[in-house]
Amino acid sequence: MNEVKVLNSGEKFSHVSVGNLHGFEGKQFVKDSTGATSCEISFGTLPTGAAVPFFHSHKANEENYIILSGEGKFQVNDEVFDIAEGSVIRVATNCDRNLKCTSALPMTYICIQAKEGSLGGYTMTDAEVTERENLL
Ligand code: ZN
Repeated sequence: MNEVKVLNSGEKFSHVSVGNLHGFEGKQFVKDSTGATSCEISFGTLPTGAAVPFFHSHKANEENYIILSGEGKFQVNDEVFDIAEGSVIRVATNCDRNLKCTSALPMTYICIQAKEGSLGGYTMTDAEVTERENLL
């Protein structure tokens, strides 16, 4: 059984871990542990031949699936395509989705769920270089 361990936290950050991904099984959401306010992040693993046991759709949130290991198939409504380690799949609201592992290795992935259309800035427009003593 997976659990989320809180490793460090401060006024401006939280650091949690689901542990070693090689032994990870099932699904684990981390928003409640990190206190995230902009997105929900989950880790998932599917063993060989397994798919998520249901299709689902989101009303307000898009999802971005990042495949960390393994290979498989992804279905959005009636379209099916191959996915593999390194794949990033963005799925819009109001459509059905599922994924299946077809490789001998389990398929491990991260899903990031955030409100569709909410990204107002990103690295090139939201970030700024700051002056800080490097303590690393
Ligand atoms: Zn979802």
